[in-house]
Amino acid sequence: MEALHPEVPVVCVRSHAMERAARVFTEQFPGDSLYAVKCNPSAHVLATLSAAGIRHFDTASMTEIEWVSSQVPDATCYFMHPVKSRAAIREAYSRYAVRYFALDHRAELDKIAEELPASRDVVLVVRVAVLHSAVVYDLSGKFGASPEEAHEIMEEAYRRGFSVGLCFHVGSQCTDAQAYISGIERVVAARAGSATPLRCLDVGGGFPGHYLESPVEELDHYLSTIAGRVEELDLDPDCRLLCEPGRGLCEAGESLVVQVQLKKERSIYLNDGIYGSMTEEGTGLRHRHRMVATRPFSQTRAPFTAYGPTCDSVDVLPHPLVLPDDVREGDWLEFGNMGAYGVACSTAFNGFSQETFVALENAFVADDPPLA
Ligand SMILES: *Cc1c(COP(=O)(O)O)cnc(C)c1O
Repeated sequence: MEALHPEVPVVCVRSHAMERAARVFTEQFPGDSLYAVKCNPSAHVLATLSAAGIRHFDTASMTEIEWVSSQVPDATCYFMHPVKSRAAIREAYSRYAVRYFALDHRAELDKIAEELPASRDVVLVVRVAVLHSAVVYDLSGKFGASPEEAHEIMEEAYRRGFSVGLCFHVGSQCTDAQAYISGIERVVAARAGSATPLRCLDVGGGFPGHYLESPVEELDHYLSTIAGRVEELDLDPDCRLLCEPGRGLCEAGESLVVQVQLKKERSIYLNDGIYGSMTEEGTGLRHRHRMVATRPFSQTRAPFTAYGPTCDSVDVLPHPLVLPDDVREGDWLEFGNMGAYGVACSTAFNGFSQETFVALENAFVADDPPLA
C-alpha cells in the first residue's frame, strides 16, 4: 500500500488459496474436475489451476476455448453450453479437438449431427434440468430437459452414432449439498429403462464460496456427499464422473482493495462498484471486508451507503457498509473472496476498469466482528 498508494482499484491475487481448493478437488472428487472458465478467465488463474493439476476445462464459447488452449497447452476443453453456433461446433471439433458437447434439446442435437461426423468419439452430454434448489443463481428455467426429454434425446443421439452422457448444474452458490443428490436422482430418472452405455455423468458446478450471511459447509462435505451417492449408482467403469467447479476453485484467489474518493455525511464514494468487480453485490452476495490499517480508526462504527464510481444511480451497494465512523477520503477497504465473477463480470462503463494486480502471500482476514 505504501509503494502503490493506489487511487485505482487493486486486485490482490492469492494463488495459494486457489492451489488449496484445487487440491481438495483433485484429492477428494472421485473423477475429473473441469474448471468452469467463465468464473474467472484471467491468465494467472488458468496458470495457477493448471499447475495445481486441473487439466480439464468447462468452456462455453470459442473465445474461452482459444484462451485455454493458448495458455494451457495440454488442456482438454469441453463445450458445455447447451446452445452453440454452428461455426463454434465445427471449429471446436476440428481445430481444438473438443469431443464433449452439452445439449438440452432435440434441435441442438439436429444441429450438432449436421455439423459433425457421427462417431462414438464424440460424447453428447444431455443436460437434465434440476428442480429449484438452494442456490443464489437458479438456472433451471433457462437450461435443461426434463428426465423424460433427456431420455429421448440421449437414445436418439446414440442411435445416430454418437456416445452419450448426462449432466446437470444446480446453479451457482449452492448452499445445500442435497441439491446434488436431487440432481443425481434426476439423472437416474432419465436413465430409467435405458440400456445405452453412459460415457459420463457430470454433476456440474455450484460449489459455494464464503460470503457474509451465507453460511456454507466446507467443500469436502459437498464432495463426500456426491461421492457417497455416486458409489451406489454402480456406474459402468467406462463412465467418467465429472464436475465443473468455477466459484469453488477461485473465489478465495482474489480480493479487491478500493479507495474512498469522497465522504458525505453517511455516504462514501468508492472507486469500484456494481459495474466493476462488485456485480454480485447487486444480486445478493455480500463480500466480507476490512479497513486497510493505514492509520488508527475510531472504535465507533456506523452504517455508510457505499456508491460506486460511475454516474449511474444504480451503482450503489444494496446493503450499507458498517465502518469506523471516522472513515474519510483516501482510506482503503479490502473486500475478500472476490475471485469468482468479480473481474470476469466487470465492465469499463464510464471509463472505470480494474487493471492493477498484485500478488500476496498472506490470507485475507475480515474485520471482526463481521461488519453486517
Ligand atoms: C457457470 C457454470 C458452472 C460454474 O458454476 P460455479 O457456480 O461457478 O461453480 C458450471 N457449469 C455450468 C454449465 C455453468 O454454466
